[in-house]
Amino acid sequence: MPASAETYAIPPSVDAFLAGDHNLLIGDRWTPATSGETLDIVNPATGKVIAKAAMAGVEDVDAAVRAARHAFDHGPWSKMMPAQRRALILALADEIEAHIEELAMIDTLNMGMPVPDARYFSVMLSIESLRYNAGWCGKISGETVTVGVPDHHAYTIKEPIGVVGAIVPWNTPLMAGVIKIAPALAAGCTVILKPAEITPLTAVRLGQMIEKVGFPPGVVNILAGHGGIAGQALVEHPGVDKISFTGSTAVGQHLVRTAAGTMKRISLELGGKSPVFIFPDADLELAIPMTAMLIFKNSGQICAAGSRLFAHHTIFDKVVAGIEDFARRFKVGSPLEMGVEMGPLVSEKQMNRVTGYIDKGRADGAEVACGGGRVGSEGFFVEPTVMVNARPDISLVREEIFGPVLVAAPVTSNDLDQVAAIGNDSDYGLSAYVWTNNMSVGHQMARKLKTGSVRINGGVNLDANLPFGGAKMSGWGREYGRDGVEAFFESKTVSVALTAGLGQSDASAIDLK
Ligand code: NAP
Ligand code: MG
Repeated sequence: MPASAETYAIPPSVDAFLAGDHNLLIGDRWTPATSGETLDIVNPATGKVIAKAAMAGVEDVDAAVRAARHAFDHGPWSKMMPAQRRALILALADEIEAHIEELAMIDTLNMGMPVPDARYFSVMLSIESLRYNAGWCGKISGETVTVGVPDHHAYTIKEPIGVVGAIVPWNTPLMAGVIKIAPALAAGCTVILKPAEITPLTAVRLGQMIEKVGFPPGVVNILAGHGGIAGQALVEHPGVDKISFTGSTAVGQHLVRTAAGTMKRISLELGGKSPVFIFPDADLELAIPMTAMLIFKNSGQICAAGSRLFAHHTIFDKVVAGIEDFARRFKVGSPLEMGVEMGPLVSEKQMNRVTGYIDKGRADGAEVACGGGRVGSEGFFVEPTVMVNARPDISLVREEIFGPVLVAAPVTSNDLDQVAAIGNDSDYGLSAYVWTNNMSVGHQMARKLKTGSVRINGGVNLDANLPFGGAKMSGWGREYGRDGVEAFFESKTVSVALTAGLGQSDASAIDLK
């Protein structure tokens, strides 16, 4: 970083936090792991250790499940009025809001996203998720149902599902956890949050805030730990009623197999390889920078990143040249430096994974139009990269890279079924993006694409009220919006025979003709 660059200052409260203990929150106590194990937490911009965090083992998971179980089955939480739960969730949002700079800085130092991105994507969206979901407290209810047998009153009740294990990735650390905790608490569930092992720090800080605003013990438990140990133990535990998981498709598939042992409920927000279609009539002044940002923001570590570009052959060269130009000007550097637009990848492992895909793509015959390599030797930076002339069957095109790598191909067909089929030729089905000024084309494409979301003439648009999730191998269920809260309820059916007359067993006697 040049000496003259202006940087965001690290608040003293962040230094103090990093120097402190980062233990496990189980019930009402902060405790080291039973095994004593800790993990060095690394700043990906420098490769240096910035903190140590306790790594939960199987015994710690068991203790947390017992705490969450108690809070759900017997504690004050299950007896609280919805308005009391709402007040606590809103108080947590206020507490986060009072510490935006501190939380954003911790996520920046731990994960590598530039400070303004951490502020918005991780912290502000967390606040919004809490406030939005607080509004759902007490508002999800069942319905009365008309049944065929006479003199019966039947209805459904929506009951909170119980103890939720929330397992999340590292790409927006604070928000990844909060978007699960917020609807779960609104529904009346209790939670055990397991952040990604490499980015546990804002989850620990969140735990401190949850305690401070006065949530009863055991309502939210926070366990940093390894996926294969703490995550696996949560999924296996018979005391957990539901797993809400965000992460890779491979781990999601493993969780499904494991959860089958207890038949616990499971929601999965998994990977993507989302297509971007640019039609010849699109507003390229907007489509080009938006498409570039969609893959380069957060160094491409966004599940809904548009990683496959299909531009009509008549505008293909112009679009690719525009994105290359954007990529060359996109400022890569220390996420603490003002004006930097792209920081490092989250870890050395992730950097090697991304450069590995680029190299394999080259070996498979694809060409690098721009970027294609690491930036510098300190930290884990990769250039914004555009690749062309890739065969549709190679790993570069088929697999999720989760890095700043766009694969672009021209589209010759004007037949919308054929164009959509090119996008649908993927195991994934998370998001799709369509750029056109012909709304008939836009809406037709929306119907033909097999994805959980379609955005026409716009970006990711994560909104607390807009359901988000995947089709095909991108997941099960939806987060955000009403769907997202309903995922934390079980439906119970009640039927009352109002008179001692005709019962179901006698119904065959009714002449339906
Ligand atoms: P990951 O490797 O699948 O890990 C996700 C979480 O699962 C981590 O907390 C991980 O712990 C844990 N885990 C790993 N093995 C486990 C096991 N056997 N049992 C229980 N938990 C286990 O994914 P990641 O590399 O952290 O994140 C990147 C992936 O997340 C990408 O595929 C991306 O598309 C996806 N993602 C999806 C969405 C969405 O909304 N659809 C949003 C963001 C990210 P460790 O940290 O110890 O590995
Ligand atoms: Mg992982």
